[in-house]
Amino acid sequence: RFLIGNTHRTAWNKGCSSFSKMMKAVCVDIPGGPENLLLRTVPRPQPKNGEVLIRVQAAALNRADLLQRRGQYPPPPGESDIIGLEVAGIVDTLGPGMKMGWNADDRVMALLCGGGYAEYVAVREELLMPVPTHLTLSQAAAIPEAWLTAFQLLVFIAQLKESEVVLIHAGASGVGTAAVQLVRLLGAVPVVTAGSPEKLRMAEKLGAAAGFNYKEESFAKGVHDLTGGKGANVILDCIGGCNWEQNVSSLAIDGRWVLYGTMGGRAVEGDLLGKLLSKRGHLLCSLLRSRSLQYKADLVRAFSERVLPHFSDQPASLRPVIDSTFKLEDIAEAHRHMEANRNMGKIVINVV
Ligand code: NAP
Repeated sequence: RFLIGNTHRTAWNKGCSSFSKMMKAVCVDIPGGPENLLLRTVPRPQPKNGEVLIRVQAAALNRADLLQRRGQYPPPPGESDIIGLEVAGIVDTLGPGMKMGWNADDRVMALLCGGGYAEYVAVREELLMPVPTHLTLSQAAAIPEAWLTAFQLLVFIAQLKESEVVLIHAGASGVGTAAVQLVRLLGAVPVVTAGSPEKLRMAEKLGAAAGFNYKEESFAKGVHDLTGGKGANVILDCIGGCNWEQNVSSLAIDGRWVLYGTMGGRAVEGDLLGKLLSKRGHLLCSLLRSRSLQYKADLVRAFSERVLPHFSDQPASLRPVIDSTFKLEDIAEAHRHMEANRNMGKIVINVV
C-alpha cells in the first residue's frame, strides 16, 4: 500500500536495518496541488545529540504548509523536507547529551522546523513542552506553532502593554484564535477582522471586543469609531499588501504594526512611508521558522512559564480552537479545506 520514495531510498539502504525502523510520512516529490501529497514509507529519523524522538499522535496544519507544498517556502538548510511545523505525541527515544530531564513516555508537544506529517519526528529538547494534563494529544497538537507565533508577536515583538488595543487580522485563523485569547490574558483589548459572520462570532466568543467583516465594511472606520479616533496601538497583520492603507489609517500615534504574513499581496503603491511617518509608526516584521535555536528556546521557555499554566480545566482558561480533524491518509482533503479558507481555528491530523 505504501511505496518507498526515491528521495529516501538511498538513506533507507544506508541506514535502516529492518522494516521496524521505517515510518509512514507524507512526501512531496513534485511541488504542486494537494494531490501531490503522497503517503509513503520512509526511514525513521534518528535522534542526534540533544534531540528527542517523538512518536507522533497528532500534527496540525499551518498556512505555511500550503506554501511549502507548492515549492514556495523551502525548509531551512539541514531540516527535514517533510512538511509539518507542530506535533504532539509520546517521547519514544532520548538521543545522547540530554540535559532537560525529559523521559521516555512523557506526553509532549513540539515546535518543529519540519517533519511533522509523519509517525516519528526528531526534535531538539529545548523545543518540547509538556502537554497540559486535561488536554488530549490531538488538542495539544494545535498549540505550538499558532500559540508561540501569537505570543512572540505580542510579547517579544510588539511588547504589548495592559489596556492597549490590538487589531488582529484573520481573527478566526489558527494564529488569530490564539492571539485573541492571549491579548485578553495580557490585559489588553483584542479587535478582529474576518471574512464571515460565523468567524466574527467565534472571535467574539473567544474575547474579541469587536469584529469587522473586511469584505463588507471598512475596518479602519470601525477601529476609528471604537477607539474614539485614537486607533489601534498594535496591529497583527498577516494580510499585507491589499490592506496597507486601512492599516496605516487604523494605527495609533507611536503604534506598532507587526507584519508576519502576506496573504493579501506583497506590493505596495502609494504614500505608505509618509503616512507611517506622520503617525511615528513602527513597522516590524517577523518570521518564526528561520529564527535561531536559542531564540526559539527562549520563546518556548517564556511561553511555558507565562502561558501554559493558563490552559487549565477552569471555565475561563485558554483553549486551543480545533476546527476539524483528518486522518493522515486524508491529508490532501485537509489542505483543500484550509486553502478554501473554511477553517475556524486549527485543522488537526490524527497520525494514529
Ligand atoms: P489559517 O488558519 O489558514 O487562516 C487563514 C485565514 O486568513 C483564512 O481562513 C482567511 O479567513 C484569511 N485570509 C486568507 N486570505 C486572505 C486575504 N487575501 N485577505 C484577508 N484574509 C485572508 O492561517 P494560520 O495558519 O493561522 O496562519 C495565519 C497567517 O499567519 C498566515 O499568513 C501565515 O503564513 C502566518 N504565520 C506567520 C508566522 C510567522 O512566523 N511569521 C507563523 C505562523 C503563521 P477569512 O475567511 O477571515 O478571510
